[in-house]
Amino acid sequence: MKDPNCLFCKIVDGRIPAKTVHDDALCVAFEDVNPKSPVHVLVIPKNHVETTNDLLPEDEPMVGHLVTVAAGIAKARGVEGSGYRTVLNCNRGAGQSVFHIHLHLMGGRSFAWPPG
Ligand code: 5GP
Ligand code: ZN
Repeated sequence: MKDPNCLFCKIVDGRIPAKTVHDDALCVAFEDVNPKSPVHVLVIPKNHVETTNDLLPEDEPMVGHLVTVAAGIAKARGVEGSGYRTVLNCNRGAGQSVFHIHLHLMGGRSFAWPPG
């Protein structure tokens, strides 16, 4: 399930380079090209899913996996104690600009709440 025109499917397929930090059967994690915090990694499923509105019940293990992979990367980067944020933006009003779901892992600074 790939979309040949999707930027993140191209990263999964290696057609666009990325600084990969994790790769397994379900997901890939790579550095955000325009980081908004000292740690800013995107964790994405290998399968193309446009938004969280499109998730199916059978996607639950994959979605849980994105979170546990992010938590492992947070520990590896040493931000598990200071804190980090995991974010899934859904649709443009929430800031989604790439329509292949991606979990933002952001850490290494403090974050305001609520987000802007
Ligand atoms: P969104 O705004 O959809 O929640 O997040 C998309 C993220 O993807 C942004 O933080 C943006 O910097 C990142 N991004 C966009 N294009 C690329 C790219 O080609 N490579 C990488 N590594 N990140 C990208
Ligand atoms: Zn895709």
